[in-house]
Amino acid sequence: MDEEQLYNGILIRPGEFMVRFGSTIRNMMMNRLRESVERTLRKMKLKFNVNIVEGVRIIIQEKGRNIDWSTLSERMSRIFGVSSTSPVIAVPGNNLSILINRIVELIESTRAKTFSIRFVTPFKNIGSLALTKAIAGHVLEKVASWIDLTRPEIEIHVEYRDGRFYVTDKILPGVGGLPYGFEGCLVILTSGGIDSAYASWMAMKRGVRIIPVFVDLGPYWSIKARDRFREYLEILYNEWVPWDTLKSYIVHGAEQIILKANTPSRLRCLFCKANMYRLAALIALKEGCKGIATGEAVGQVASQTLRNLYILSRLTPLPVFRPIGFMDKLEIIDKASRLGFSRLNRKVGNCMLRPENPETSATDKDLEILRKALDDTHEDAIRLIKENTETIILRP
Ligand code: ATP
Ligand code: MG
Repeated sequence: MDEEQLYNGILIRPGEFMVRFGSTIRNMMMNRLRESVERTLRKMKLKFNVNIVEGVRIIIQEKGRNIDWSTLSERMSRIFGVSSTSPVIAVPGNNLSILINRIVELIESTRAKTFSIRFVTPFKNIGSLALTKAIAGHVLEKVASWIDLTRPEIEIHVEYRDGRFYVTDKILPGVGGLPYGFEGCLVILTSGGIDSAYASWMAMKRGVRIIPVFVDLGPYWSIKARDRFREYLEILYNEWVPWDTLKSYIVHGAEQIILKANTPSRLRCLFCKANMYRLAALIALKEGCKGIATGEAVGQVASQTLRNLYILSRLTPLPVFRPIGFMDKLEIIDKASRLGFSRLNRKVGNCMLRPENPETSATDKDLEILRKALDDTHEDAIRLIKENTETIILRP
């Protein structure tokens, strides 16, 4: 029989958070993780039973369907908060001969010449080692393969949980991190470029639900930028958001505020960014989020000097998080590309509002000019959020 036909479920092992928190938090996190699993399946238009077992594992099961369990298991490995997953054969815990037969079938289906067996958890009062020896002896009688404890072609893992054995020959490493949404939400300013994408992923990995916001500069920036933002949303949603919905916003007409503010031209970029922070903060307050995030990195371009970032941070009522704040550009491109974001690493035209010599070392005096310009345009910003902002919700 084919391996895939033997499997009848997936075992999900949670990440390192299980050892660092007390039981109340752990249970809350496990429930969050289950929610991610259920919502990812819903997004894929699949219906399964998803259960938490003994408070430490999540089991996905479904009988009588043709399912590629290994592929699905790989997909589940990409849910934040997962340390590893396995396609498994679930066997009733009261029948050792069924267990032995399933192990035999699994070994035979892989045609491995050598194998080893490892019990991950003790069973009743029998220690793991004694049980391993007993089972391995019976299996050995029935298969043509040999036991090799040092370099086996396949390693059979058996885990006993809540009245069942879970048998597998594959352990797929998970992405790690914390369950999505456990830490609440952040509004993330995204241009749709590779930096914003990687910053979004980093925040999500640590349990933050994100609400991406794109600030549209109308005729002053190419329409390609808006298209790229849509592409960013699609990749993020399809590959990484472990929920079936993703909410985001496009704020239109931000150029009107920049033109109205009439700051000295050297401060225009800083004002534009400060205005983006403000728009994001207004949305964050409306959404009940804990702050805003950006894809800025210290010194990456002339405008992202530590001095400028300091000035910008002082102009927002909510904390600003910069997940990739201290990474090198090449490092970001490399990591983001491996996550499927390489398509976003392209030019989408220049901003036509950009002055000849943007300020790179803003002073405290500039800070006051910017603060005043923000105050003078505050009503306009509120109006933009109320009347000129598009909500985009991705769903299956
Ligand atoms: P990215 O690769 O994310 O475009 P970048 O290296 O091109 O970043 P900037 O264009 O200066 O650098 O943008 C820095 C950060 O400012 C972005 O990561 C994002 O957080 C924010 N940002 C820039 N443009 C916009 C925009 N139009 N809408 C929303 N946020 C933006
Ligand atoms: Mg950019």
